[in-house]
Amino acid sequence: MTKHVDAIIIGQGLAGSTLAWNLHWQGRSVLIADAGDENSASRVSAGLMTPVTGRRMVRSQDFELDWQTARAFYQRVEAEVAGTFFRETETVRLRQAEEDTSSARATAEDQSGADRGEWSGELQVGGKTYYGSRRKPSGRLDVAGFLKATAAFFDRRSEYFRGRVDMTTEVELRGDRVSINPLGTTADNIVFCTGFESTKWFPEVPNNPARGDILTISIGGYRRTEVIHRGIWIAPEIDGRQTAGATYDWKDPRPQPKAEGRAELLSRLSELVTGSIEVIRHRAAVRPTMKDYEPVLGRNSQHRNAWIFNGLGSKGAVRAPRLAAQLVEAMYNDSPIEAKSDYARLKKKAELAAQPPLTQIAQQLVAEVVKPGDTVIDATVGNGFDTCHLSRLVGDAGLVIGFDIQEAALASTTQRLQAHGLQNVRLILRGHETLNSEVSPLSVAAVMFNLGYLPRGDKKVITSPETTVPAIQQAAEALRAGGIMTILAYRGHAGGPEEGTAVTKVLARLGAGFNVRRIESRSAGDSSPVLYVVRKVELQHDVAVQ
Ligand code: SAH
Repeated sequence: MTKHVDAIIIGQGLAGSTLAWNLHWQGRSVLIADAGDENSASRVSAGLMTPVTGRRMVRSQDFELDWQTARAFYQRVEAEVAGTFFRETETVRLRQAEEDTSSARATAEDQSGADRGEWSGELQVGGKTYYGSRRKPSGRLDVAGFLKATAAFFDRRSEYFRGRVDMTTEVELRGDRVSINPLGTTADNIVFCTGFESTKWFPEVPNNPARGDILTISIGGYRRTEVIHRGIWIAPEIDGRQTAGATYDWKDPRPQPKAEGRAELLSRLSELVTGSIEVIRHRAAVRPTMKDYEPVLGRNSQHRNAWIFNGLGSKGAVRAPRLAAQLVEAMYNDSPIEAKSDYARLKKKAELAAQPPLTQIAQQLVAEVVKPGDTVIDATVGNGFDTCHLSRLVGDAGLVIGFDIQEAALASTTQRLQAHGLQNVRLILRGHETLNSEVSPLSVAAVMFNLGYLPRGDKKVITSPETTVPAIQQAAEALRAGGIMTILAYRGHAGGPEEGTAVTKVLARLGAGFNVRRIESRSAGDSSPVLYVVRKVELQHDVAVQ
């Protein structure tokens, strides 16, 4: 018998667990599947919750909000399962007295600390005197305990599957339904929270996994009760031992403890503490870090019922609850995802990065429409690249009419045409706003505009809205049904943004007989070029059905 749930969650680390609780509290049914790897990043992680963590010691944005949400979240889970895994602790960053306090990093950190009323004073560690700046708020999450309690809770509700789901063969995404046949379960949505194991449905995720070693140790005579950070961190555990970590290894991202990792930690520890260090346990995991260190969450653009929540790094314990809540809002209320790495944004970025230049896209689209023998127009001849392209497309039986107001442009284009033996071009030294005096309505297959100034020419001579707008209107009339007009607008020069706006407006007024598409350039910024592709709609020869 098949069971149906609201959401299937693959992977029960911090991401999967925080998501499951948020869904559960909204009255949604779930099925969590987890292989139970001992070395998953979350199970190994130390659960440090401080404003400044990670390889780069960067203060996380929105820390206050993340913290408030996380504290409330873990306390609520604690109440539900009658467990304890969250506690507020002290965290201190150590700096030695003689160290350069003017370094940009130290100043920025102390400054942000001072602004927040953090304490800074002398501290003895390992027989040395340090300045300590206390990070507030700060806490620890017993991640393993939280995960265990979460698994038990959902297991009791029959919403848990302990085992590996083969994501390439066992997950089926079909229309508006997800199914995992071996589990006999279907769902409205599936969320991949699979850590560094990326999935085939989200190829654009900028995975950059980093192995991290972590040691459980016992330091002779060590009594500090706060978490201390100095390149590495030492966190006291309730049994009197300490946890210390962590290394970052991007070269060998496999979850095996490595001797080099252990040696690195021990050498850094011995710089920090004097007591003898006994290693009780050495573990390693692969953090699902992303190239930009930002967690990824969001929806798959083709499979609208597939979602991703992944890439929680060293700030995972504190960031996961708020991100999970955001994801649930996106899933059920269509709210936009505000996190930096909304999957849709990543995907768009990747697509844009792979996109050819707009000039080339314009030429390709025109080539799909224009046939030998056609009449076409290059409205801004310039150096003649589009003119040559059009000339080849229409062939000997066709005609290209080219406009430019600069003699230099027509001269260089004439040369280019001659060099290629192209003869089917009539160049006109006049503005394109006189286009309708050269061609009759519905007679041309394509019109290409490449606005702005002439590259390598006089940059003061630019196209302007007063002439561009009437030219576009005339071109729209001149197009035959099925004809195409491309307009490449540059917005980086003085007058460019205004011209871009004027083009957008005139195209919006063209009406139902035209199809307008806008294509962003790779850089996709406010001042980057935009290509408009306008098609004159073909007449519909509808057969009337009686
Ligand atoms: N398509 C060209 C680049 C064109 S640059 C290429 O592929 O090389 C823009 C050109 O528009 C300049 O040569 C400029 O002289 C021309 N121009 C400016 N105002 C114009 C107008 N009103 N009518 C026609 N061309 C104009």
